[in-house]
Amino acid sequence: MKILEFFLIAILLLALTAIPVHCQSANESVVEKLNALVEKDKEGLINATQDLVKIKSVRDVPQAGAPFGEGPAKALNRALQISSDLGFATTNLYGYIGYAEYGQGDEYVAVLAHLDVVPEGDGWTYPPYGAEIHDGKIYGRGAIDDKGPAMAALYALKAIRDANLPLGKRVRVIFGCSEETGGPDVEQYLLREKEPVSGFTPDAYFPAIYAEKGLMSFDMSKNLTDDISDNISEEPRGDIRIISLQGGTAYNIVPDRAVARIQAADPDQVAAACDAFAGMTGYNLSAEIAAEKDGAARTIRITSLGKAAHGRTPEKGKNAAMQLIAFLATLDMGSAEMSEAIRFLNASIGMETDGKSFGLVMDDEPSGNLTLCVGLLNATPERMVLGLNIRYPVTYSFQDVMGRFNQTIEGTGFVAENWQANQSPLYYPKDSPLIMTLTRVYAEQTGRNDSAIAIGGGTYAKEMPNIVASGPMMPGQEEVEHQANEYIAIDQLINVTKIYAQDIYELAK
Ligand SMILES: [Zn+2]
Repeated sequence: MKILEFFLIAILLLALTAIPVHCQSANESVVEKLNALVEKDKEGLINATQDLVKIKSVRDVPQAGAPFGEGPAKALNRALQISSDLGFATTNLYGYIGYAEYGQGDEYVAVLAHLDVVPEGDGWTYPPYGAEIHDGKIYGRGAIDDKGPAMAALYALKAIRDANLPLGKRVRVIFGCSEETGGPDVEQYLLREKEPVSGFTPDAYFPAIYAEKGLMSFDMSKNLTDDISDNISEEPRGDIRIISLQGGTAYNIVPDRAVARIQAADPDQVAAACDAFAGMTGYNLSAEIAAEKDGAARTIRITSLGKAAHGRTPEKGKNAAMQLIAFLATLDMGSAEMSEAIRFLNASIGMETDGKSFGLVMDDEPSGNLTLCVGLLNATPERMVLGLNIRYPVTYSFQDVMGRFNQTIEGTGFVAENWQANQSPLYYPKDSPLIMTLTRVYAEQTGRNDSAIAIGGGTYAKEMPNIVASGPMMPGQEEVEHQANEYIAIDQLINVTKIYAQDIYELAK
């Protein structure tokens, strides 16, 4: 073989092995172009994020044109101003929600972000509305939830426009203003606008959330007859009477503290029973006997301490209210109805968080088991109320859960009422086109092989048809949203923008 031929063959072989690597993504040059444009606009993106973080957009009393108060309306106006300065058409839907739009076509792809924030709280190192940059991070309430991601989506759309890429669908970056407080921003949007054909909300984790459990919050309550209330002071029976039970602050948080106020003819006996029960169970219960006599019966205060946890993972907590119920179930009450109610609660719920004894065991592969969180406990001699937060797996329905629930409470006098929330599950199979696209783009941009995630719910994706949550958090990233010293790292802001640019392009092309 002549040397020249050898070289030609060698070059040919090299070229052949190199080609498949180079053609892995048909879009490679498109993606490179988009990524470069995102880098070029880095300063604008940082400034826009800072601008919005500086506006305190916590929900407040409604005003004309500002249904969620002055702050959210100001943030919406600013975001739309930034959008129109970048050359996008904008629409403000009466201060509820607004959007920037680009492109042509009947159908559109949506990125649904939110501009409202939760209150800042205490414990900040840097001013919560200062948007100061330290160590490459923008600090402030809303930096990652969800103002940074909102601007990332807008600058992603700008990159697509500047790259002059042909799109088959319009694209909207939608700015909601009441995500944190449960609406009705998206509801107002859907009254006036057609729904998107696909899209995502940049308000959770990468690569994408493919399953969000169904969620319901409501009261389980019962009216009681206080059958010893008239004679307790004149004619003590030696019976125990509950004056009040109180525990918890919200439906979706496991109570870390609950208190019972009790009257008893022999308070020392109750206190001793409490100590013995605490010793036996390991529950943190303590009894304190009031100094002065209240008629013949003296008051005892029993405090139960547990551990708080989010309603989507109640098994991580220790329910102080149900610990208290467990102890009270061992006592003989003067009121037979109160006694019955407490024993029913202890037997049918107790310390369980999966609804097993209530007949609510439900489980599926995509999303795991049903969770039940007793978030609130309130009782007087006349009424017992438990605030429940139930999250059920995605292949079950509201009727499945409530059918079984009503069966268990039948004949107990308890009713389900005062509904606070009722969201259907959200489920896109992992091989659905939307989840596949978001997962592939994420893998191409980051080189990571994470798979789509199931959560206890619920994001904006439950309110807007045809979208799922995707980003801005990396799997396993430290959670800073809703906490002091919330921040978004500038590197992450840029990377997220690159991923979103490719996402939007792939969904809208
Ligand atoms: Zn959010």
